[in-house]
Amino acid sequence: MKKHNFYAGPSILPEITKEKVAEAAMNFAGTGLSVMEVSHRSKEFVAVMDEAVALVKELLKVPEGYSVLFLQGGASTQFLMAPYNLMDKKAAYLHTGVWAKKSMKEANFFGEVVEVASSADATYNYIPKNYVVPADADYLHITTNNTIYGTQMAEPTVSVPLVADMSSDIFSRPLDVAKYDLIYAGAQKNLGPSGATLVIVKDEALGKMERPIPTMLDYRTHIKSESMFNTPSTLPVFACLQTLRWLKENGGVEAMEKVNIEKAGVLYDEIDRNKMFQSTVPVKEDRSLMNVTFVMTPEFAEFEKEFFEFASAKGMLGIKGHRSVGGFRASIYNAMPPESVNALVAAMQEFELTK
Ligand SMILES: *Cc1c(COP(=O)(O)O)cnc(C)c1O
Repeated sequence: MKKHNFYAGPSILPEITKEKVAEAAMNFAGTGLSVMEVSHRSKEFVAVMDEAVALVKELLKVPEGYSVLFLQGGASTQFLMAPYNLMDKKAAYLHTGVWAKKSMKEANFFGEVVEVASSADATYNYIPKNYVVPADADYLHITTNNTIYGTQMAEPTVSVPLVADMSSDIFSRPLDVAKYDLIYAGAQKNLGPSGATLVIVKDEALGKMERPIPTMLDYRTHIKSESMFNTPSTLPVFACLQTLRWLKENGGVEAMEKVNIEKAGVLYDEIDRNKMFQSTVPVKEDRSLMNVTFVMTPEFAEFEKEFFEFASAKGMLGIKGHRSVGGFRASIYNAMPPESVNALVAAMQEFELTK
């Protein structure tokens, strides 16, 4: 039976990424060695890193004056590296979920954290708007896509630089990198396996802090050594490169956005139509194109477990909602083919007919 991978992260990868990784696990770039057992300073691996960086720049139209890094430690380490390097006295944070909250907790070690708005009052089921960002904040930190709650935000227009956690929607749509001092993303949602963290940082924003920054946590260390200050996660970076190539071959982020809008549209339409299900995000413009969260309607609440089993038996994997939201979450990242979304929609329709 075909498996449809709706896991939130680690999550679905393009077939070609997995094939190329499998190949390189045994014979990388004609070396006769595994990609796991060659030096990160070999010319073959340096070429992987260089091409991955170049493709990130090309796909996201990264302007001059920005550095692209592949680090380790996940997005969670970026929660502290961001303020360590960029927050002098005060930074503004938009509190849109648990990940945002965790990033605020780390920023608190470095100065004053101004929470400009929060959607915690409604289990983060909307994106706050019309908040005021203090003009003297060093940056506004946002989480562009809230993986757990199924909300996603448009690029805000504010007078301070942006710092963004894009772990779960990077490469899903075009963005204006020039608005940001820093963008970071754990690879394991939309790019590759866990173990690599993509960072795009504005060079000019660095070096302004008076505090000393430990070597490994200073972006300048990694810029200077081109992500090879210490051993990079070679296999994950290799995998990220394969996804980046796939992205380019498939029309880049503009084409991804178009398909993502279509895929999510089909699923949201069914959730809105089907009498048994409802979205957890009432405001339509706040609904994520990446993580579609939904629950049973009150009338059919008792059938939650039954639908889970029904859908699982049809090959739908990873659709259980996060424990803080309940219900279901279908993560439909770039690599998810429309057929899998259609299969889930068909299962929902079939289930409706059984009641
Ligand atoms: C998954 C996720 C994280 C955590 O990433 P790690 O790489 O596990 O540290 C942070 N932010 C968002 C938005 C996520 O989806």
